[in-house]
Amino acid sequence: MDKITVSDARRVEAVGRSVRLQGWVRTRRDSKGGFSFIELNDGSCQGNVQVVAPGELPNYEAVVKHLHTGASVSIDGEVKASPAKGQATEVHATHVELLGDADPETYQLQKKGHSMEFLRGIAHLRPRTNTFGAVARLRNQISKSIHDFFQERGFLYVHTPIITASDCEGAGELFRVTTIDPDAPPKAEGKVDYTKDFFGKPAFLTVSGQLQAETFACGLGKVYTFGPTFRAENSNTPRHLAEFWMVEPEMAFFDLTDNMDLAEAFIKRIIADALARCPEDMKFFQERIDKDLLTRLEGVMKTPFRRLPYTEAVDILLASGKAWEYPVAWGKDLQSEHERYLAEQHFKCPVILYDYPRTLKPFYMRCNDDGKTVRAMDVLVPGVGEIIGGSQREERLEILEGRMREQGLHPEGYQWYLDLRRYGTVPHAGFGLGLERTVLFLSGMGNIRDVIPFPRTPGSAEF
Ligand code: ATP
Ligand code: MN
Repeated sequence: MDKITVSDARRVEAVGRSVRLQGWVRTRRDSKGGFSFIELNDGSCQGNVQVVAPGELPNYEAVVKHLHTGASVSIDGEVKASPAKGQATEVHATHVELLGDADPETYQLQKKGHSMEFLRGIAHLRPRTNTFGAVARLRNQISKSIHDFFQERGFLYVHTPIITASDCEGAGELFRVTTIDPDAPPKAEGKVDYTKDFFGKPAFLTVSGQLQAETFACGLGKVYTFGPTFRAENSNTPRHLAEFWMVEPEMAFFDLTDNMDLAEAFIKRIIADALARCPEDMKFFQERIDKDLLTRLEGVMKTPFRRLPYTEAVDILLASGKAWEYPVAWGKDLQSEHERYLAEQHFKCPVILYDYPRTLKPFYMRCNDDGKTVRAMDVLVPGVGEIIGGSQREERLEILEGRMREQGLHPEGYQWYLDLRRYGTVPHAGFGLGLERTVLFLSGMGNIRDVIPFPRTPGSAEF
């Protein structure tokens, strides 16, 4: 008797085997012939396996005929070829054990067809639904592809810190990490005295591992970091989370074109892997979530990404004749509506915008000779908008210090970062890909809260 998964039991190769299956009852149907069909799922795949439970089972009347949706069971039986349509196999039970019942009066997944909003409220139970099973398996596959892609190309996986103490970029978006008692903080000159705090200075959750990844790239060549990232931005959108996962490759001796080539190959690889390794889940997304999904993804894999400067994108948007919610002008940040217009309607393919106004982008992006733009790149995809943000980094010490002052930062606080330019500086580049935006893109799901196990958003950190 082998313990196998539902996924294995559904394969025709399993026919003839005596097996034990353990999982949750999706539905039970009693036949007039005095036996029951149990649809069993264990999360190993999208589909269920059909268990035929004969009336001869000693606990048939007492237990089997009362199995509820959501109950956990352990079933022994033989895998047989199934005469029914749409399934290769079925399992004829010789033993059915109820492990844990699920009271149909109170079990919230008793019925199908709940809204995503409702399921968000029971995030501890939604892994048992078809949609969240598919999302979880796809998210797992994407994570694997990320490691495979970089490992195969000789990148080193580095672990950058979660807690950072440099008074870094985007101060408004930082979560503070402190052990100071908020009701009785130590004070100096009327202000909270952070020299008395745990680290002896203010500390925060990281918004990006890039600066630390640069230190490894400038010594080890090609590296990537992949971990949780935190942003206290108060944006209640379907594309923003306060805690999300980001993969950030950083490469010495790469310029912006190399960076774009890598980003494009990376996205195409993630799609190819998902289609090849999660076909059942991808089919589910196509049928149940987004009718255009597979055509769109196959198109993305075949088509070269359209690359164009920010300035040309602004011209296209201005000439579009569209009434934008946020007005377009050179020097203004592009909003999701603009990004999606370019990728979905104008070019109908992923777009890599580059050479953004220097006022829009952080100090570490390399300045162009025009004095107005920096070597930034954003990858925009249909259905989501921005999925990657990156740049070639400024490797020239004086220019970098100048950019810091220009943005009101103090070079004294970044001596370790400036040392990379002081000693053996090299051209280098990198980018950040948001994992959840990638799952949105590959699944066609509409809200980022539904592609992470436990979403953290303004006003909400349940579970
Ligand atoms: P946006 O303009 O959409 O807020 P950003 O310009 O702040 O994004 P970057 O700082 O370039 O984004 O971060 C790199 C990538 O991380 C983004 O392209 C996106 O995929 C992802 N990302 C950024 N902020 C969030 C967030 N709050 N929630 C989820 N993913 C995010
Ligand atoms: Mn942002």
